[in-house]
Amino acid sequence: MLVCKTIKEVSEVLVLNREQGKSIGFVPTMGALHRGHISLIERAKSENDIVLCSIFVNPTQFNNPDDLKNYPRTFDVDAEMLEKSGCDLVFFPTAEMMYPDQFYPDIDLGGLDLVMEGSFRQGHFKGVATIVKKFFEILNPNSAYFGEKDYQQYLIIKHITKHYFPHISIIPCAIIRESDGLAMSSRNMLLNEKERETASLINKELKNIIIKYKGENIQDLINQSVSFLNEQPNTKVEYIVVANQETLEISDTIEKEGLRLFAAVYVGKVRLIDNIKLFCNFAT
Ligand code: AMP
Repeated sequence: MLVCKTIKEVSEVLVLNREQGKSIGFVPTMGALHRGHISLIERAKSENDIVLCSIFVNPTQFNNPDDLKNYPRTFDVDAEMLEKSGCDLVFFPTAEMMYPDQFYPDIDLGGLDLVMEGSFRQGHFKGVATIVKKFFEILNPNSAYFGEKDYQQYLIIKHITKHYFPHISIIPCAIIRESDGLAMSSRNMLLNEKERETASLINKELKNIIIKYKGENIQDLINQSVSFLNEQPNTKVEYIVVANQETLEISDTIEKEGLRLFAAVYVGKVRLIDNIKLFCNFAT
């Protein structure tokens, strides 16, 4: 596995591979890798000749300076995991390389940034779109792989790619979970033992909402789950909402096709997100 630390280096390697007609699958990450990331690498490996992974903690997508400062950075362990999973190339640039000037052009996010993560994390998706656009310009992959864990991010990337890079395929990948249902996340390693236990309740509550549903007002069930989670020590729900999985339009019913249940919850100082797909098979 080759590690490229400059734009020039990675561009040269990619030119050589493209000249040989090789397809390039790209997995952008912020490092502190876990099995969720590795599932993306493996999927990319199965569908491309070359797998390229970037590790870059993107400063412009952090709305909270403490979150940026505390974000785990574990490059050596990451590189070992990538090597084992069959990754061919790692791009590990510095912030100075990716942001040589302070000019970030406006990118149309199709209004998909106006709800959920977008309304709680001002500027977050502008930062995500800016860095992904820069990566796509530099790396020009055939396909790029994104986890459904960050579902809103996946939709926004799909939107900008359709507009700016119609030749790149955006591939969504299923959420990988711990055995108790907690969605794997680099942030999980910042939880203490008690917080880790509480964190597992997020996915359980999302499932509970659906299990309990018997045709009543879905908002009542959501409110019960919000109250239950908020009663846990140091826990604060930012939102639990039902939304359309293409438009993100908030829905007040779950008896429609194409919906997901989304949540963002603070456990201690750690902000966790999750979502589950809803299947419209309720007897009416
Ligand atoms: P991050 O390093 O958090 O920016 O994540 C890099 C990519 O890995 C994103 O496309 C994430 O959605 C994806 N990812 C993170 N956690 C998981 C998970 N538990 N399952 C599947 N994909 C994930």
